[in-house]
Amino acid sequence: MTDDCIFCKIVAGEIPAEIVHESDTTVAFRDMSPQAPTHVLVIPRSHYPNAAALAAGEPATAAHLFDAARAIAEQAGLDKGYRLVLNTGEDAHQTVFHVHMHLLGGRPMGWPPG
Ligand code: AMP
Repeated sequence: MTDDCIFCKIVAGEIPAEIVHESDTTVAFRDMSPQAPTHVLVIPRSHYPNAAALAAGEPATAAHLFDAARAIAEQAGLDKGYRLVLNTGEDAHQTVFHVHMHLLGGRPMGWPPG
């Protein structure tokens, strides 16, 4: 737990979020500013600033993020596909420095991303 981290506070239940999935190592909740009909953030309970730090420090939990995303996509019926995004660093538009996987689905998407 990092005191000034908003996602640590969601994990601790100190600020509200619409939680859609939980495991021993992960929590998933709806993004407050959804960019698609389904827009969920999947995060580790432990604080790591970005995907690279999580992969180095807790690789099993990094895999758990993907498994949680699979379960959420199945539950949401995203049979036609979905996108997983891990913005890493300033140039990639990371704004919250507790690693989070965006799960976006429910509409067709373009490529390349903006
Ligand atoms: P990123 O730009 O990849 O760091 O994404 C951060 C995401 O966190 C954005 O899509 C925000 O809308 C979302 N977000 C920030 N604070 C909250 C919150 N308290 N509850 C839900 N989503 C949030």
